[in-house]
Amino acid sequence: MSPDRVLRAPVLRARATVAHLDADAFFASVEQHQRPSLRGRPVLVGGVGPRGVVATASYEARAHGARSAMPMELARRLCPPSTAVLVPRFDAYAAYSARIMAALHEVTDLVEQISIDEAFADLDAAAGPGTDLEELAQGVRARARELSGLPVSLGLGRSKLVAKLASEAAKPGGVRVVRPEDEDVFLLAMPVRALWGVGPVSAARLDELGVRTVATCGASRWTRSSWSPARRVARTCIGWPAAGTTAR
Ligand SMILES: [Mg+2]
Repeated sequence: MSPDRVLRAPVLRARATVAHLDADAFFASVEQHQRPSLRGRPVLVGGVGPRGVVATASYEARAHGARSAMPMELARRLCPPSTAVLVPRFDAYAAYSARIMAALHEVTDLVEQISIDEAFADLDAAAGPGTDLEELAQGVRARARELSGLPVSLGLGRSKLVAKLASEAAKPGGVRVVRPEDEDVFLLAMPVRALWGVGPVSAARLDELGVRTVATCGASRWTRSSWSPARRVARTCIGWPAAGTTAR
């Protein structure tokens, strides 16, 4: 590797201090928080017209098979008659979003909001030497819950990719800290679809190439394929030093 490339190679931090905070079933949770009569009931938020799509399904609706991005008609058929079907109220959601984000801003200035209910935060400065990261994470999660009244999940890792997957693993309403020594176990067995940027189309193409798990990404020679998104997925996969992968 040339000296120039070495200088630009990413260096991972030593501790899992990158946080990803994500509200659970956000739109539906706001509706249930504002209207107690909706609590414990299936709630579908999204387009209600003939071509409407579910934006968020509450956990009660998910228990019946409803999912976000599903046609609303199908979700309604899956859910019981007591289901509330609501159009989104973005003004209300923005106010709750600000309260969730405030919990992060209380501990760090380094907050990167990536959607209405999701943000990364750098907790490295907030976590002094000897800090129990699990405790810190629990504190931030509890504060976001306290300020917003909504269930939120928090993931910690030493990269954004791991932090985001960790918050997903922590749902609903939990905390997951993935320490550097646990990254391989946490990541390698995951389906490649779990990786950020791998959607249904990429996943199908990867499947044809025999790449089904994150572990296979590093182990195979498939990145020499002429299919260009392969290189992007490969770059994501080699963002951490894992068995069978080499930093290039
Ligand atoms: Mg969310």
